[in-house]
Amino acid sequence: CLNVGCIPSKAIIHAADEMMRARELAARPSMGIQLDPPRLELAQTMAWKDGIVGTLGKGVKALLERAGARVMHGHARLLDGKRCEVRPLADNGPDDDAEPIRVHCEHLLLATGSRSVPLAELPFSETVLSSTELLALTELPQKLVVVGAGYIGLELACAFAKLGSEVTVVEAAERPLTQYDTEHARVVGAGLRALGIELLCNARVQGTGPGQQRDQALQVELADQSSMTLDFDRVLVAVGRRPASDDLGLDELALDHDGPFVRVDEVCRTSMRNVYAIGDLTGEPMLAHRAMAQGEVVAAHVAGQPASFDKVCIPAVCFTDPEVVSAGWSPERLAASADAARIAPHGVKTARFPFKANGRALTMARGSGFVEVLARADNHLLLGLSAVGTGVSELAGGFALALEMGACLEDLAHTVHAHPTLGEAVQEAALKALGQPLHG
Ligand code: NAD
Repeated sequence: CLNVGCIPSKAIIHAADEMMRARELAARPSMGIQLDPPRLELAQTMAWKDGIVGTLGKGVKALLERAGARVMHGHARLLDGKRCEVRPLADNGPDDDAEPIRVHCEHLLLATGSRSVPLAELPFSETVLSSTELLALTELPQKLVVVGAGYIGLELACAFAKLGSEVTVVEAAERPLTQYDTEHARVVGAGLRALGIELLCNARVQGTGPGQQRDQALQVELADQSSMTLDFDRVLVAVGRRPASDDLGLDELALDHDGPFVRVDEVCRTSMRNVYAIGDLTGEPMLAHRAMAQGEVVAAHVAGQPASFDKVCIPAVCFTDPEVVSAGWSPERLAASADAARIAPHGVKTARFPFKANGRALTMARGSGFVEVLARADNHLLLGLSAVGTGVSELAGGFALALEMGACLEDLAHTVHAHPTLGEAVQEAALKALGQPLHG
């Protein structure tokens, strides 16, 4: 998250927003603001981003020191559930010639995260990159092809389009952001088009071949089995992530797995006594805040305190333009769930309130998107909250709090929300679900 994930990507997304705003104002002065055409020095942007990562890294180091934790830098390989060997790092992995240091423990916590899934037909190279290398480029690619229209692909597609790249996204499924409901993905799709991003769905990369303007081009097969070539300077492959457990010596422990993920119980215990696992290693959602919350549960459990990872929801945010935030169930996921009859035995109430009727959204000149609420029809208990629109990521905390507190529609509807804020749309959506809409 801190070194190669959330933080660097959000820094670049912010810089890209600033760049686009400056370019827009230079092209079309508005609100009385006039600018000269801006110029991007990507190497400086990356150095600024590295500064933020460095500051936060120092903060984490200081926290560890203050807590009295000993930090060893190196590559760990497990010998069993109580011992591992740590070797210093060489260029691309452990330095196998170096003498390893053996570490013994009573409790072992595995938190090695995940790595980008490579595509067999398009291996990583100088020009075919994962998000880690894309976030370290010092020259802006003129033509960027993004393979995969999930979180990573679309966040970085939006950012690089705003920085000035020509971006094409190739997605195998019939629509982008399949983890979100159709209408949310449609609003994001419109946002992509507004940024000039070309989105090819039902499309599969076959490999590379000679291009029309470049030495290399991507060969893409479309749904009707016709094919096309896409010239590129760089390709981002963002087709998912898999647990980073291959060179850890995990086989020695023979832990139970769920598919590729280490299976854990409600206190993040694996199938081996005193061995715990958290984060991407343990499956979806692969989100930093889930790993952090799991870590707290493990620390409490090891310390002999009562603890359980028993959350009503883990909110998720996609930092595209517009942003998407969701917590709890969505209407489409609930309808498709085998548990629907247990979760909402008497059906559901749902309503959407559009940002085009929200004062704050209009003052930011961004009126696309909506807030959606989902609640049980009988007792109005909230089951899910989501939004798509500019700046909606900041609604995540309130959404999660409402669901964890067991709030119902009336709680949202009769809480005084500050005016003018985007949050008023949450109140209005709840009023609408109760059949008492304030604005039609
Ligand atoms: P993803 O699963 O979100 O999306 C991958 C996309 O690639 C899917 O739409 C899939 O249909 C498509 N795909 C798969 N194979 C393909 C192929 N051969 N050709 C074309 N398309 C193909 O994966 P991601 O974007 O790599 O993200 C990985 C993880 O990182 C996610 O689980 C997410 O939770 C996490 N993440 C979170 C955030 C955030 O919270 N803001 C941001 C980035 C990543």
